[in-house]
Amino acid sequence: MTDLAQVPDFPADEFTDVLAANVDYARRFEDAHLTGRAVRGLAIVTCMDSRIEPLSIVGMRPGDVKIIRNAGARVTEDVLRTLVLATHLLGVTRVLVMPHTDCKMASGTEAEVHAAILDASGMDTRSLEIRTVRDQEEALATDIMRVRTFPLLHPGVTVAGAVYDVHTGLLLPFHPSTAAIAGL
Ligand SMILES: [Zn+2]
Repeated sequence: MTDLAQVPDFPADEFTDVLAANVDYARRFEDAHLTGRAVRGLAIVTCMDSRIEPLSIVGMRPGDVKIIRNAGARVTEDVLRTLVLATHLLGVTRVLVMPHTDCKMASGTEAEVHAAILDASGMDTRSLEIRTVRDQEEALATDIMRVRTFPLLHPGVTVAGAVYDVHTGLLLPFHPSTAAIAGL
């Protein structure tokens, strides 16, 4: 068990803006009636990129969607674990895998990212798999299939892919049969 006395207290000085904004948020809060079920039955798997505002992009609001994020919008074991819970217990019936244009994860090889971190921080991170993307269409096709064929997902879940264009705000639906993401 973690000894709580060893864990540092909340570093309020570095989070002043966060806490102040939250007080404002709580003052206007009107979502107390919501539950953890996704009202619109949607889960979005997307990147951690700070330009992506998943709810606004698809015209939804808190309570509507499960949002799962990581570097590169990759379907990892943890994403599958989360989707199992979301589809069996939390009302998700459709999954949108949503990588984006100008993604840092698609801009270099595994070795180049490790070299960049070494350059920036002097740390050798090669023991970690970054999961960089060499070909975004190929990665998206693979990730869609990973969800579609995962045996523990609720049957009947619809899986789709679309690329979010960070320069236009548009979602570009992915059609593997023609393998054409307009604008990529
Ligand atoms: Zn990204």
